[in-house]
Amino acid sequence: MSGDALLQVRGLHAQYGPTRVLHGMDFDIRRGGITTILGANGAGKTTTLRAICAMVRTSGEIVFDGERIEGLATENIVRKGIAHVPDGRGTFLNLSTEENLKIGAYTRKDRDQVAADFERLYGYFPRLRERRRQQAGTLSGGEQQMLAVSRALMLRPKLLLLDEPSFGLAPLIVRELFDILAEINRKEGTSILLVEQNANLALNLADQAYLLETGRVVISGPAEDIRNDEAVRRSYLGY
Ligand code: ATP
Repeated sequence: MSGDALLQVRGLHAQYGPTRVLHGMDFDIRRGGITTILGANGAGKTTTLRAICAMVRTSGEIVFDGERIEGLATENIVRKGIAHVPDGRGTFLNLSTEENLKIGAYTRKDRDQVAADFERLYGYFPRLRERRRQQAGTLSGGEQQMLAVSRALMLRPKLLLLDEPSFGLAPLIVRELFDILAEINRKEGTSILLVEQNANLALNLADQAYLLETGRVVISGPAEDIRNDEAVRRSYLGY
């Protein structure tokens, strides 16, 4: 895997104050691929994404696109090409859809390209074009999640980190969102790291998967193999 890995994580530990949450995780994200980290409530999925972005105290080695990034400030990690869509989405609710997208482009200097990117994203998410002048707080949950993803994509990231994008959304909206994520991955080559409690959903989208239990990777491999793993099926897929 290392040859075409966009992100390589080795011996990742993370803690909140004295509470250790990740205990030496190793994982890779393939360039152009979709990787998912599955796990029960409290397994450490959110913390893994926060650790990549230097938002929690960590130790271990994180190599992104051939460069060590652990120890960099969050802002510089973003500039390297990692965009994070946190749980809770981080949308500015009293700003309009388009103002939120503009904020997403804050690290970019290519102003004319930014304008073209609004159109590119509205192409993927036509509902956002309809709601471009509307206050983000008045959008539906699904539209807000689409806005959060679009805002992250305004950075033109190489890697998109998604924290439970399906949370609280109706199944039909989730399907629409996940279809668009697959399309963006295919057309733009954006690599995706998805953390999800909904294992069925995540394994349908991803090509590689890791199962996390109390801060340790216990199973990893192609999504197809993980889906067929007896223990995963029993505990996480419900059949
Ligand atoms: P969930 O799906 O519930 O978000 P998760 O797999 O994303 O679960 P994390 O949110 O990473 O898990 O939490 C892992 C552990 O770290 C949990 O035991 C949680 O209580 C603890 N934890 C998370 N955030 C903090 C914090 N800010 N301070 C202290 N402990 C925390």
